[in-house]
Amino acid sequence: MPFSLPDLSTDIIIVGGGFVGLSTAYWLSELNPNLKIVVLDRGQLGAGASGRNAGFLTKGSAYFYKSLGQKWGVEGAQSILKFAEESLKLVYDHFLKTSSSIDFIPTTSMTLFKNEKLHQDLDFDAKSFGFEWRNESELPENLRSKFYGGLETSPEYKVTPVHLLEALKQKLEARKIKVLENVSAFKVTPDGVMTDSFVLRGKKVILALNGYFPQFHEVFKPLIIPHRAQMLAVELEKDFNCPSLYYDPPERVYWRKVHDRTIIFGGKRLLDEKGEVGDFEKISPLIQAGLESYVGDLLGLKYKVLHRWSGTMGFTDHELPILKKISAPIETYVVGGFSGHGMGLGFRSALEMAQLVTGQKQTSFFQTFKDNTINL
Ligand SMILES: Cc1cc2nc3c(=O)[nH]c(=O)nc-3n(C[C@H](O)[C@H](O)[C@H](O)COP(=O)(O)OP(=O)(O)OC[C@H]3O[C@@H](n4cnc5c(N)ncnc54)[C@H](O)[C@@H]3O)c2cc1C
Repeated sequence: MPFSLPDLSTDIIIVGGGFVGLSTAYWLSELNPNLKIVVLDRGQLGAGASGRNAGFLTKGSAYFYKSLGQKWGVEGAQSILKFAEESLKLVYDHFLKTSSSIDFIPTTSMTLFKNEKLHQDLDFDAKSFGFEWRNESELPENLRSKFYGGLETSPEYKVTPVHLLEALKQKLEARKIKVLENVSAFKVTPDGVMTDSFVLRGKKVILALNGYFPQFHEVFKPLIIPHRAQMLAVELEKDFNCPSLYYDPPERVYWRKVHDRTIIFGGKRLLDEKGEVGDFEKISPLIQAGLESYVGDLLGLKYKVLHRWSGTMGFTDHELPILKKISAPIETYVVGGFSGHGMGLGFRSALEMAQLVTGQKQTSFFQTFKDNTINL
């Protein structure tokens, strides 16, 4: 319990124990095993998006790279793709491959198109981004009448996100890194971090709050906008063959089979775009109805609802995270605003952050796209 803790002192304080905060602690201890590190989270493990997401360890859809290409040019978008590929490989090498407690499946992801026009309208050089076209006859049989084709890429992974967090936490604790749950950071001070109940003294602070940044300090309000994302888990009446991770961007839906007849669906945020701006988790009936309509009407499946939930994502206007040193009362760094892609980009981003903090890099990969001035 926080109230029984004495004032603590450490080298590095990481605020936010999601996938990115825990991964940053992991990489810092890889780069310098002598560092004293404390991670704190105001909730329990997985309280934020990292415990609530769809479990797509993915580079992202063809639409994502099309959009990045429009913003940053084809070469810029390809460098982001390479970053995402490295990130997935690192998660595989450091965790999936070696940890028997993580439930994961190597797979592909597929950006689906309902008709030829939607595919043509995308107007995207998919091959140069590693996507292969699959026509209708190459899709799983039960998707054939519903979709005209899809753009497929691999390697990608289906993962149970909380397993990944637990494996990270175990590894950190084995390295004597403290992970304090149910401790809320209140303020960054010249000494470290003031929490709701004690002072954590440290030399450097890393804020890894993703969608919750604007709650922490108003300086983040114009930079990272919190958006809710809704998820629906259903049990199907009959088995449905769908081995990949699926994106249906025009419908704003993504889905994956979890096991047997259980499938999880996410998305439909744009049905209530304004209503879904916010940093607290709630079920939206409008969006949940949209997800159900996708399952029942569009895919034509008979199902029963198992579970509904939501989570908070942090969006930036440029679709890429902010990852940099900022101006603050103590040496402070910020990593967040993953714009819905934190599981895919997060692990490599955490390495990037560890390199900044240990002085191995001066500027992060993402700063080369956009750099914000932030004074805490
Ligand atoms: C429903 C949903 C589905 C998604 N699906 C996918 C997907 O399939 N693939 C993908 O790549 N991405 C997905 N995302 C996005 C992905 O989950 C996030 O980008 C990623 O988890 C961000 O990790 P994080 O550690 O930066 O943030 P978070 O996991 O949100 O961690 C931030 C942590 O900060 C803590 N915190 C907040 N304020 C304080 C404070 N004052 N003091 C202490 N702690 C504090 C919170 O409790 C939280 O644990 C999804 C997101 C949602 C919501």
